[in-house]
Amino acid sequence: MVEVLINRDCLETILMIAKNAYPKETLLLLRGKIGRGLVKIEEILFLPPRYVGFDAVSFDPYRLPIDFSIVGIVHSHPSGDLKPSLEDLNADFGSIMMIVGYPFDSKRDVAVYDYDGRRLKLRVID
Ligand SMILES: [Zn+2]
Repeated sequence: MVEVLINRDCLETILMIAKNAYPKETLLLLRGKIGRGLVKIEEILFLPPRYVGFDAVSFDPYRLPIDFSIVGIVHSHPSGDLKPSLEDLNADFGSIMMIVGYPFDSKRDVAVYDYDGRRLKLRVID
């Protein structure tokens, strides 16, 4: 079982960006560290401007520079549904996938998965 740690500022920034983009979908990269049974999210990275407005399905990670500190991606579901779609699971970029759902208010609106579709435990640290 992998546990995912994120610092509160980082989570709040993600929720704010998703809220501002609503009703459009948002896609950001997660940067951090991977340890034994643990993924630590330390920062978010914006995609190059040409990707803005694109959805997760059309996102092509192979066009980005290789960066091994990228641990995964986060995208928003304006529908509020936190379940990953098949296309989401096929994106397979980094180790984890975070989904934030409407209304983007708190940890309740956040879910993290591995690319086998298993939901991971998320812990917010101060
Ligand atoms: Zn999705």
